[in-house]
Parts: sequence; structure tokens; C-alpha cells
Amino acid sequence: MTQETTQPEVNIGLVGHVDHGKTTLVEALSGSWTDQHSEEMKRGISIRLGYADTTFRTCPGVDEPDCYTVDEECPDGEASEPLRTVSFVDAPGHETLMATMLAGASLMDGAVLVVSATEDVPQAQTEEHLMALDIIGIDNIVIAQNKLDLVDRERAMENYEQIQAFVEGTVAEDAPIVPISAQQETNLDVLIGAIEETIPTPARSDDDNAAMFVARSFDINRPGTTWEDLAGGVVGGSLVSGELTPDDEIELRPGREVEEGGQTEWQPLTTTIRSLQAGDGAPDSVGPGGLIGVGTGLDPSLTKGDSLGGQVAGEPGTLPPTRNGFEMDVELLDRVVGENDEVETISTGEPLMLTVGTATTVGAVTSARDGECEVNLKRPVCARDGATIAINRRVGARWRLIGIGTLRA
Ligand code: GDP
Ligand code: MG
Repeated sequence: MTQETTQPEVNIGLVGHVDHGKTTLVEALSGSWTDQHSEEMKRGISIRLGYADTTFRTCPGVDEPDCYTVDEECPDGEASEPLRTVSFVDAPGHETLMATMLAGASLMDGAVLVVSATEDVPQAQTEEHLMALDIIGIDNIVIAQNKLDLVDRERAMENYEQIQAFVEGTVAEDAPIVPISAQQETNLDVLIGAIEETIPTPARSDDDNAAMFVARSFDINRPGTTWEDLAGGVVGGSLVSGELTPDDEIELRPGREVEEGGQTEWQPLTTTIRSLQAGDGAPDSVGPGGLIGVGTGLDPSLTKGDSLGGQVAGEPGTLPPTRNGFEMDVELLDRVVGENDEVETISTGEPLMLTVGTATTVGAVTSARDGECEVNLKRPVCARDGATIAINRRVGARWRLIGIGTLRA
């Protein structure tokens, strides 16, 4: 059964400041993730979303942590044994959006915080990402102190102490700090050992209804394909619960905007699963963990250019409602991350950028009181009661994370 050996069982976010080495580390740990063997569709989604799967392995008879590897062959020539397949969620070039994604998507089971030893701690996104982990309560964290090859011992020690001081009192207080060089591939065995120890595979239930957060969608047909050869639309994302199998009927919400008599309305789309992609294969069924691609019977013009990104897919009739607005309980940060200003209370009329699942939408505040507010959305979202919402406010030229909302029933 392919899917049992290849579908990743846990999602690990790679967070940290730009240029501190997140992508280099993912490459070092997964080697050939953009390789020629994976199918074009899967590769396309992986690169654009920044998911990379890798199997952690162990060399039999070798002591910890030297036993940990991602290579199939051990240094002594013996074959290594697989431990588990994990999926790294990197945010290629989108560090400023990572905090939002972290807070909204609830797709991450743990995180590796990459901190470069060459700079003082914390840099802006180091702090922003840690704060996002903190407020959503992702406490399975490993800190990779990177670029050790570029600093002398004294500087490395000083930086290590800065990291310790920085995480004190946060969710990462007890996180192991592993000195590495991602580029030189030094000490990665210790890092893998720390991840194995600190970020366990969460317990999941197959009985829950399938819910997939759609992050991307595509038309995979080449221009000029005749209609007989036309492949249906493809959606890519992650399952947060349940299971999908080919031939299942699925619904996508909010669906598409339809105009009737001058009124526009969002109607769910229904289709059938034609094919699945997960890990490095086309399994008979998929569950939560890593990135999946779902080939559907939808007209590809409906899926092209990520038009279904941010939607939710699942069994018809089981999905949460489509909402044009909602009330939420609000917990604001003490101060704006990256700025030194206090977070001012939310006021009626102000625009907020809200991330719910993989959907990002702008909402206008229609009423605000202490600890709660009500918003009207420009674009509706499909979200369950109690969903976590990342709340961003425009500060200067950018959207900044200012707090977390919980969708009210
Ligand atoms: P990201 O923005 O966090 O994804 O950082 P990248 O992985 O793109 O790395 C930024 C730069 O730092 C690249 O030029 C890497 O080659 C370099 N780099 C990353 N890790 C190391 C390391 O351990 N040692 C050295 N010397 N350079 C590194
Ligand atoms: Mg990167």
C-alpha cells in the first residue's frame, strides 16, 4: 500500500527570518524534493506552496544521534530503515506572510525555527513567527541555530545565549537549540533526532468527515489540448481531517460566484475525485499530512490561476457554512510585532485582513467592543464555529499581525 509508506504523517513549518537558511535546510533534509521523478503536477504544487517531503531514517546498530539520516545507505554501507515521512512547509520568499499563514491555516503540527548565528537575535520575522506560534499554541518547536560555519566559537556561544534569552517566557522556552550548518550539512543527525523527539505525529481519526483546505488550484492542460484529452481541474492543499478516495463526490465551498438578475451569490461546486496525489505516488486514499493534489471533474477554467485557493473541500453536506461576515472573540497582541507600538483596539469601519484556513479576505469592521468584533467580508469564507482567525491591520505599507480571533457560533 503506497500511501502508508509515502504519505507524510506530520507537517512541520519552517519559520524564521528571511535568509537565515530555511530553504537551504529543507533542501539538505530532503535532497531531491524537486527531482525529476515526481510528476509534473505534484512538483508544480510543491514548489509553489513550498511543501517538501522527506523520510527520516535510522542506521541499525548505530547509537543516537549518529544513527539519524535521510540517506538510504548508511556510512558503513548498510541499508538504513525508515522511521517516518514528514512534510516541511516552507514559505519561499513569503516570510512576511508566514505569521498569517501559521495562525490561520492550522496545518502545522510543529515548527523548526531557523536562526542565523551571524546576526543578532531577534530579527523581525524571527520574533513575528515565534509570536504567531505562541498565540496559536504550537509548542512543538525545535530551534536550528544555523550558519555555524560562518562564525567563530565565541560568536556562536554569544548567539546561543541571545537565543536562550529571547525564547525565555515564550512557547519555545523548552525547545532544544541545535547548532547546525544547513549548507555544510553539519549536525543534521542531531537535528533529526530533536525533531523525532519534540514533534510527534498527532493522533488523527479517520472517522471524521474529510475537510481539505485548498491552497492552490490549476488547469494542467497545455494550450491547444482538444476537448477529448482535456483533464479536469486540479486542486492542491492539505486535509485537516478525514480521508478522500477516488470516485468520492466532493463539494467545494464557497464555490463560485454566480450572477442572477443583477444579484451575485456564491454557490458550492460539486464534482467527483478522479485522481489523487500524495507523497510520491498516486495512493488509493489520502488522509491528513503533507500536500495532496486532487484531480477533479471540474471544468479546468474554474480551477485555473489558483481561483479556488482558500476554499474548503469535503463530502457534500458536511462542510461548514459559507459566511459573508461573522462575529469573533478577539485577543490582541500587546504590541505590533516588528514595530514598537502598542496595538490599539479595533474600531468600527476599519479594514482588517483576515486569514481563515487557507483563505485570506478583507473584512470591514461593522461593530467593535472590548474583546469582540463583527466583520463584513469582501469575499465569503467557509469556516466552522470556533475557527481560529489571524487578524492583520495595515500599519504603514504592510499588513501586520495584531491578534487572533475565534469565530463565534
Ligand atoms: P531562507 O530565506 O531562510 O529560505 O534562506 P536560504 O535558505 O535561501 O539561505 C539564504 C542564504 O544563506 C543562501 O545564500 C544560502 O546558501 C546561505 N546559507 C544557508 N544556510 C547556510 C549555512 O549553514 N552556512 C552558510 N555559509 N550559508 C548558508
Ligand atoms: Mg526560503
